[in-house]
Amino acid sequence: MSETSTQGIKGVPEFFGCNVFNEKTMREKLPKSVYKSLVRTKKMGVALEPDIAEIIAEAMKDWAVEKGATHYTHWFHPMTGLSAEKHDSFISPTDDGGVIMEFSGKELVKGEPDASSFPSGGLRATFEARGYTAWDPTSPAFIKDDTLYIPTAFCSYTGEVLDKKTPLLRSMEAISEQAVRVLKLFGSDATRVTTTVGPEQEYFLIDKKLYDQRKDLIYTGRTLFGAKAPKGQELEDHYFGNIKSRVHAYMKELDEELWKLGILAKTEHNEVAPAQHELAPIFTTSNVAADNNTLMMEMMRKIALKHGLVCLLHEKPFAGVNGSGKHNNWSISTDTGVNLLEPGSNPTENFQFLTFLVAIIKAVDEYADLLRLSVASAGNDHRLGANEAPPAIMSVFIGSELQEILDAVESGEVIKIDHNREFVIGVQALPKFPKDTTDRNRTSPFAFTGNKFEFRSAGSSINIACMNTILNTIVANSLKEFADRLEGSGDFSADLNALLVENIKAHKRVIFNGNGYDASWVEEAAKRGLPNLVSTVDALPHYTDEKNLAMFEKFKVYTKTELESRTEILLENYAKIINIEALTMLDMAKKEILPTAVEYSGDLVSIAVNKASVGVDASLEKKTAEKVTGLANAISGAIDDLDAQLIAAGGAGDTLAVAKAYRNDVFSAMQSLRAVCDELETIVPEKLWPFPTYGDLLFRV
Ligand code: ADP
Ligand code: MG
Repeated sequence: MSETSTQGIKGVPEFFGCNVFNEKTMREKLPKSVYKSLVRTKKMGVALEPDIAEIIAEAMKDWAVEKGATHYTHWFHPMTGLSAEKHDSFISPTDDGGVIMEFSGKELVKGEPDASSFPSGGLRATFEARGYTAWDPTSPAFIKDDTLYIPTAFCSYTGEVLDKKTPLLRSMEAISEQAVRVLKLFGSDATRVTTTVGPEQEYFLIDKKLYDQRKDLIYTGRTLFGAKAPKGQELEDHYFGNIKSRVHAYMKELDEELWKLGILAKTEHNEVAPAQHELAPIFTTSNVAADNNTLMMEMMRKIALKHGLVCLLHEKPFAGVNGSGKHNNWSISTDTGVNLLEPGSNPTENFQFLTFLVAIIKAVDEYADLLRLSVASAGNDHRLGANEAPPAIMSVFIGSELQEILDAVESGEVIKIDHNREFVIGVQALPKFPKDTTDRNRTSPFAFTGNKFEFRSAGSSINIACMNTILNTIVANSLKEFADRLEGSGDFSADLNALLVENIKAHKRVIFNGNGYDASWVEEAAKRGLPNLVSTVDALPHYTDEKNLAMFEKFKVYTKTELESRTEILLENYAKIINIEALTMLDMAKKEILPTAVEYSGDLVSIAVNKASVGVDASLEKKTAEKVTGLANAISGAIDDLDAQLIAAGGAGDTLAVAKAYRNDVFSAMQSLRAVCDELETIVPEKLWPFPTYGDLLFRV
């Protein structure tokens, strides 16, 4: 990071990716044949020979050491949702009592972190305790903090997945295989497809000195108390507003650090809520995008501290203003350079596009529960369906042009094929779908935006690996069904036509082009039979539904045991998060808020007594003291209730029962406690209130 100040924006192309062992560096540092093998591995997923790994390791180490690195780490993504790393130095002793810097192919390819303290959801109890990390050569290694970071997958010795990356890589294989089958039918010579992702990341920046005074922010990343400030987001003056110079300095340094790490940081702006911002990178391959997003979140937090700021990535740091999401822009492209979600310029391409479109619509309809649970978390429960983010009901927005085309296909008007095997639709080609008419609906969870889908339900702090694993697998599933049906078809045109019509009919209920925030949509969706899994505890148990299990097993993305363990981990994590929040509330209420109430009412009473002793009217003090005492009593009662609910929840039964008790009972006791404390805040003098207010946090950056 120290180099930043000397590198102005001017030299961006020169320093972009300077800390990444990227294609350019590899071409420079590796013998041609080794470079070619590695490219083959990256592009086609073929295994790497051990002697090749040896040469790559040596080159990587030399490059890293040249750049000042002394250590390396296998960087992985366990089920905590955070990244994990254990650093080893390159040193190796020599006979003469010195050291040399060494790094072997074996060390590059495989690592053995002590995995026993990562959540495994029972996997390690049942199976082998040890886990290992395996190099993912498709995601580039990079240098940070004098350490060479090697992106890896994390598995148990018996092959069970213990991380978020492995299933993503498996799902990318699955969708590639099935998409290529479908593409063949259209005469494409693509041999591989990759899914691409561009995650738009929202976040808040607040002053570190204020942050340090609030236990809720420190322990939970969100405010658990806080009366509304006189101003919120009602003037809509923050969205795309001028960027304050302190924030600008932060963004500048962040960009530079991300660029050095080869992350394509592109768009920055102020978001809807005060103190809220967004950073969007240019899209890249799904697994690299997932790695980059994790790294980006880490850098966002770290660099904020250097500017006396704290970056909040929680989904709902403040009640009453918008929370933060992460829009997962997703598409599929071929190794021949075609974006499959780009409506084509000729009829064949357009029908290929429609086939993929219908496959996606079918996938969302059949596996809406999975998509919903892929974004389920305690933090995101505050947003979904709260009119700041799409509802918990999964639906697809396609816009009016595409809707007309699907209607036409459904009513049998469109598909014909001439003797040259070219599709003909009256005017030859479908119209281009202008992006600006498809990008308007911000209320849809899954919107077509011209040449990609934007999955908008994700929360800001989530690791995007899981949702992309699910997205890839459910679409692979549709594509497999299509390929199974169409391969060997005698009359491709007629059979494709029939297949599309059938699937449009069967799945059009999931298409919704209206306002997803409208209350009437909830009713309408229920009529259509679409699931509305309101909270995390409603959604997560569906992981292991028979149909979902069968699908994941079919594509070897998750086994039954892996799914069970994931459900267990996520439910447990959910309960733990609410538990920490509840304990933090109790701590703040007992040690900070109640003592403030006692102090203030005491002051008021003394003043009242003094005033009365000299015959001055003390009715205001008396009235206020009574009000404060009344609220303090209510707070005390709410504390007792929350205490009791916590004890009850802990003993509610199995993991699901415990999680449900936290959701239904603990959570509502927390809200009751907050309500009375927030009311107290509105009548206590500012100088007595024990921690910074919403006004301070949101407007004093
Ligand atoms: P906005 O949503 O603000 O209008 P864009 O639509 O241009 O902005 O892009 C939003 C995000 O979508 C960016 O991260 C961009 O890189 C990403 N994106 C664009 N094309 C694709 C694609 N083919 N696959 C995945 N992501 C994409
Ligand atoms: Mg967007």
